[in-house]
Amino acid sequence: MALIVQKYGGTSVGSVERIQAVAQRVHKTAKAGNSLVVVVSAMGKTTDGLVKLANGVSQNPNRREMDMLLSTGEQVTIALLSMALQEIGQPAISMTGAQVGIVTEAEHTRARILHIETDRLTRHLNLGKVVVVAGFQGIASTEELEITTLGRGGSDTSAVALAAALQANFCEIYTDVPGILTTDPRLVPEAQLMDEITSDEMLELASLGAKVLHPRAVEIARNYGVSLVVRSSWTDDPGTWVTSPQPQGRSLVNLEIARPVDGVEFDTNQAKVALLRVPDKPGVAARLFGEIARQKVDVDLIIQSIHEGNSNDIAFTVNTPILNRAEAVAAAIAPALRNQSQADEAEVMVEKNIAKVSIAGAGMIGRPGVAAQMFATLAAAGVNIQMISTSEVKVSCVVAASECDRAVVVLRTAFEIEDHEAGEVISIAPPPHTIPPVRGVALDMNQARLAIRQVADRPGMAAQLFGLLAKHNISIDMIIQSQRCRMVDGVPRRDIAFTVARIDGESTKNMLSQAAAEFGWGEVVLDSAIAKVSIVGAGMVGQPGVAAKMFEALAQHQINIQMIATSEIKISCVVAQEQGVEALQAIHSAFGLAGSEKFIVPA
Ligand code: ASP
Ligand code: MG
Repeated sequence: MALIVQKYGGTSVGSVERIQAVAQRVHKTAKAGNSLVVVVSAMGKTTDGLVKLANGVSQNPNRREMDMLLSTGEQVTIALLSMALQEIGQPAISMTGAQVGIVTEAEHTRARILHIETDRLTRHLNLGKVVVVAGFQGIASTEELEITTLGRGGSDTSAVALAAALQANFCEIYTDVPGILTTDPRLVPEAQLMDEITSDEMLELASLGAKVLHPRAVEIARNYGVSLVVRSSWTDDPGTWVTSPQPQGRSLVNLEIARPVDGVEFDTNQAKVALLRVPDKPGVAARLFGEIARQKVDVDLIIQSIHEGNSNDIAFTVNTPILNRAEAVAAAIAPALRNQSQADEAEVMVEKNIAKVSIAGAGMIGRPGVAAQMFATLAAAGVNIQMISTSEVKVSCVVAASECDRAVVVLRTAFEIEDHEAGEVISIAPPPHTIPPVRGVALDMNQARLAIRQVADRPGMAAQLFGLLAKHNISIDMIIQSQRCRMVDGVPRRDIAFTVARIDGESTKNMLSQAAAEFGWGEVVLDSAIAKVSIVGAGMVGQPGVAAKMFEALAQHQINIQMIATSEIKISCVVAQEQGVEALQAIHSAFGLAGSEKFIVPA
C-alpha cells in the first residue's frame, strides 16, 4: 500500500470519454490498496481559450482578474473527474488549491508555492476517498485570500509539490507522449524513449523537456527527493523515471522560494590550455579534440567565443596532473591549424595556476539576477574573472588559483551556503558504466547572440554588464567569456558574448549600445540567426572523447561552430540557424541515440 500522487494533463482529460478513462485508471490504482491524490489540468486547450477571451476584452488584462479567470479551467475538471469516480463506485472528493491550502506568494499569474497544508487532504484520504485537486492554482497568504496561479504549465509543479509535502511514495505525471525522448521527435523521427534520466540532466535539457515536464516541478523533485515518472495516459507502458539524489531533509516551508543557488563548488586542481587564433571554419574543434581524445586526455571546461577577423580562440581546462600531455597534444596540432589567410599561426598558451569556481542550482532558471550577483560578488572581493561558461543550472568562472579561497568564501556568504554544503571537487568519480555519456540532445532555435567587444579585463566588468541586463529583466541563457585578451589604449580587453531570447535581441542591443558609450566598451554585435545545440549526460564525466565526437559530427556536415560552452554534464555549441536542424540530427545519430524503431507522435 502506497501513497501516490497522479497528475493528468489537459489532453488526458480533454473529453468526457478521456475523463472516464482516467477515472478507471485511478479506480484500479485505489482498489489495489493505494491512497491517491489526483491533480488535474484544465480540459484540452481550455486555458488557451480563456486567455483568448481575456485578450478580447482587454489589451492588458489585470493580473488578479487573469488568475480569477484561468483558475476556473481546472475547477471544471476536478468536479467532473470526482463525479466520474463516484459513478463507478470510487469514493472521491474534489478540492480547489485554496481548499487544500496550497499557499503561494501574492504574485499573480506566476506565484511560487510557499507551503502546502496536508491536514485536510490526509483526513479525506484516511476516509478512503480519492482526493482530486485542481492543479496550477493556489491561495496567497495575505488577508485577502487571493486566488493565484503558478504560471502556464504549472499543474506539474502542483503535483510534485503535493508529493513532497505528503511524502508520497511517488508521483506519476500522465501525459500524451510515452515519456521523455532523446530529442524532439518532430525534428528527428528516430528519437527514442528513455527509461530513466536524472533530475540534473532533465534540468539541463529544459529547452527540450519543458513541454513534457515543467522545470519547476523537476526542481522540487530534485530538492525533496520525490520519485517521479512521466507516462502515457493511453497505455500501461512504464514511461521515463526521473531520478533524484537522496533528500537532505530540506524544510517544507518556503518550498519554492528556497535559495536560487544550492551549492558553491571549486576545483583548484585545474590548468588551462588555450589555442589562440585558430581558423574559424568547420572541423577545427573536431581535429583538436579528436587528437586529445585519442591521447585519452579528459577535458573539463571547453570555451570558444567569437572574435573579430576569421580566427577563434579555443580554451579548455584539464586536471593538473595531465597538463603536460594536454599541452603536448595542443602544441603538436597547432601548426596544422594554421590560419592560411593570416600571417600569424595558432599559438598555444598554458596556465597552471587557475581554479574553477562554480555556483549551481535549479533556482537560477529564469532568474536574470543570479549570474550578475555572482559576478558582482567576485568583483567586490577584487577577484578577476578570466573565463566564464554557463549552462542552464550552473555558472562556472575560471580565476587565478591564488584567488580561489577568497572567491569561495564571498560566494558562500552571498548565496547563504553553509560550509558543509560547498565542497572541493577533488575528483569526480566516474559514474557507473550503465549511464550513457549522452542522454539527450536539444536544439534551441529561439535565441539571438550578442557580443560586446573590448570590455576592460579587470574585476567588476562582467558584474556591470550582467547587472545592467538583470536590471532590465533580460534573461540570459548562455554566457561565454573566452580567452582572447588584447591591449587597446594600454588596457587589456576581452570580448564577452551571451545569448538571449530572440525577441529580446534588438532591444537588448540598443540598450547595451547606449551603455557601451558610457562605460567605454567597444562595439555591440547582434546575430539573430543562430541555433544552440546541446548534448547532456551525467555519464560524460570522466569520459574522454565525448566533446570530440560531437564536434566531429558537426565537421562531417561542414557545420561551423561559432561558440562552445560546457558544464560537467553538458556541451553546447552555437551554429548558424539554418544549420540547426541538420546539426541536431547529425549529433543525435553520432551518439547512437536513434534506434531502428521510429517514434510516432500521437495526434
Ligand atoms: N492549465 C494550465 C495551463 O495550460 C496549467 C497546466 O495545464 O499545467 O497552463
Ligand atoms: Mg504540461
